[in-house]
Amino acid sequence: MAENDLKGLNLYELEDCLKLPKFRAKQIYHWIHQKHVVSFDEMANLPLDVRKELKENFYISSPKVLKKQRSKDGTIKYLLELEDGELIESVYLKGGEDRFTVCVSSQSGCSLGCKFCATSKMGFKRNLLPGEILSQVYMMPKVNNVVFMGMGEPFLNYENVLKAVYILNSKEGINLGARKITISTSGIVEGIKKLADEKIQVRLAVSLNSAVEELRSTLMPVNQKYPLSELWEAILSYQRKTNRRITLEYILLGGINDSDKDLSALVMFCKGLDVNINLIPYNFYGGEFKVSSKEKSSHFIEKLKSKGIESVLRVSRGNDIAAACGQLVAFNPRG
Ligand code: SF4
Repeated sequence: MAENDLKGLNLYELEDCLKLPKFRAKQIYHWIHQKHVVSFDEMANLPLDVRKELKENFYISSPKVLKKQRSKDGTIKYLLELEDGELIESVYLKGGEDRFTVCVSSQSGCSLGCKFCATSKMGFKRNLLPGEILSQVYMMPKVNNVVFMGMGEPFLNYENVLKAVYILNSKEGINLGARKITISTSGIVEGIKKLADEKIQVRLAVSLNSAVEELRSTLMPVNQKYPLSELWEAILSYQRKTNRRITLEYILLGGINDSDKDLSALVMFCKGLDVNINLIPYNFYGGEFKVSSKEKSSHFIEKLKSKGIESVLRVSRGNDIAAACGQLVAFNPRG
């Protein structure tokens, strides 16, 4: 049962739950969060009777790897089965010599129905627990960058996502720098406001995809609840409180959001905000949209630059195994 899973507990909760001396709880925390063991038998510095008692009362969750696919560019996609049979995907990307990124899911499926996203086709299954989020990081060989850009809307699972973030950042855990953690939201205004008040300085990205009200509402139904003006206000107030630049993500959809009118609306949206823009080539090849032309993306970059807005065209990774942005969707290969 999930409440007996020790992986999702921070150090204070672990001390409280185990009723063992503090140094013992810390040893166990190190085994789980630094050495990533999933069996009490491996905790060699614990007396046998302590290990036995732990085994009788608790466990350390670990998802089952159902499938592992490697892309030509080295990206690896994992299909994972959670304890209750729900499925998620995680993606491991190597960038250069020393950048090891894991793109984690925060929910199984998603309820938000963005038109360009494969995950939305799954519908919403459930929120992930903190331990299930951490497992996606701990199962990778080496990680120095974590992005919440897999399945799901992180701010609709705010408490569990932030708990996992604090554990990742903890000195007794893997001590991952807060600036090495990025949370990407579709624009859940309450989440942006809450994050501004957190003690931790993680990076924030907002998946914008259109700054034209009607079009954004069509592409991302979440815009009907949180229209552009509210989103803009939330970003501004986040920046006033934190002094942090944010990233706007913009998937270029050929003939849909890549016209001059779309570009002008994007420039207008950026006014007064400290942002950089990630332009993302459309990736979901089974989907209903087309890729935007190279000329269009270059035009976007040049125009944004002329307006003093930094932007980059993101190189798509893991396309051939459907591991790129917007492609994650999980179905059980066993049928
Ligand atoms: S893009 Fe993100 S928020 Fe939108 S449906 Fe996909 S997973 Fe959900």
